[in-house]
Amino acid sequence: MKIAVLKEGAPGERRVAATPETVKKLRSLGAELAVESGAGIAASIPDQAYADAGATLGDRAATLAGAGIILGVQGPDPASLGGQAPGAWVVAGLNPFVERARVDAYAAAGLEALAMEFMPRITRAQSMDILSSQSNLSGYRAVIDAAAEYDRAMPMMMTAAGTVSAAKLFVMGVGVAGLQAIATARRLGAQVSATDVRSATKEQILSLGAKPIFVESVAGIEGEGTGGYATEMSDEYKAAQADLVSSHIAKQDIVITTALIPGRPAPRLITDAQIATMRPGSIIVDLAVEAGGNVEGAVAGETVERHGVRIIGNRNVPSRIATDSSAVFSRNLYNFLSAFWDKEANRPILPDGEEIGDAIRLTRDGKVVNQRLLGN
Ligand code: NAD
Repeated sequence: MKIAVLKEGAPGERRVAATPETVKKLRSLGAELAVESGAGIAASIPDQAYADAGATLGDRAATLAGAGIILGVQGPDPASLGGQAPGAWVVAGLNPFVERARVDAYAAAGLEALAMEFMPRITRAQSMDILSSQSNLSGYRAVIDAAAEYDRAMPMMMTAAGTVSAAKLFVMGVGVAGLQAIATARRLGAQVSATDVRSATKEQILSLGAKPIFVESVAGIEGEGTGGYATEMSDEYKAAQADLVSSHIAKQDIVITTALIPGRPAPRLITDAQIATMRPGSIIVDLAVEAGGNVEGAVAGETVERHGVRIIGNRNVPSRIATDSSAVFSRNLYNFLSAFWDKEANRPILPDGEEIGDAIRLTRDGKVVNQRLLGN
């Protein structure tokens, strides 16, 4: 089985879907690895490192020739493919709802597209979950981006010239990214508080040494949907949450928002009027900006200033920490491929009716077959 690792084509994408470590591991399963020249450069992995790990390097046509599996961070442009084996797998983060035309093109080309972000949230698949591995690093990076933009210090410092006070940092949305943001901000010495609609996160916030800020007065605080995801909250809950946030946010120096609801626009958590109550020089990082944004006025790909408060709306935050995000992304792909590798066939096999395969398979035999995409 030949596995092709492509150079990413999306603007600003610096990650790569395999590292020398996973090249070696995939080869030890019996695969042959072909890496497109320059694929790892933006993640600080030179071609020679792949060659030393046993991959062959070449242009796109040579990389794809006869490949049975094509690996990507994002889905490759269907027009840039060709020469791969019939029915080859495309394994990547395919953003299926947004990139639906691309999924149709994969089907038309006879490819079997596997969307890694549709990985089910089951224990067995945790090591294959790109959403978790990338969110974790986004949470870290959000705090670093905030610290770099903030004109004050994060920790309390006692100096001969007097005391510098610790930054007050508030995390809204305590999933994978939020938990890492709390941990990172604590390590930098900030005074951290956090909120979520899922009451299960209260313990987690406390265990990281931060202060939970929760709506206690309104029923429906459980807020937990399938797979541990949040659900849309009642209007009464939303009003109580807005009151709580208003009083808390005015006292914060840095706010990091991460709140997402799968399949829906991100919930609006901070209004322009609330931003106006923060002191000038405060920072907001909206990690949900590409899903519609948690913060009024946030702009994807820009840092904007409102009422003296800077709102950071970086796109593709994992790509801002490309070496480590590539390392964990690549391990997710390896963990997936190795779990289904059949030694005799020298390729992975995803049988019909298998929970993981059924969840992530988008196309097969020229058709779109995924139940979520078909709206079932
Ligand atoms: P996510 O990215 O979908 O959302 C981020 C956070 O925003 C969530 O905690 C959510 O509850 C919160 N949120 C949504 N609406 C909000 C609102 N109005 N106000 C405040 N917060 C709001 O979440 P995630 O990072 O994917 O994690 C969700 C849960 O799933 C976590 O408990 C995580 O540990 C779990 N998880 C399990 C697996 C697995 O079992 N394989 C994998 C990943 C995550």
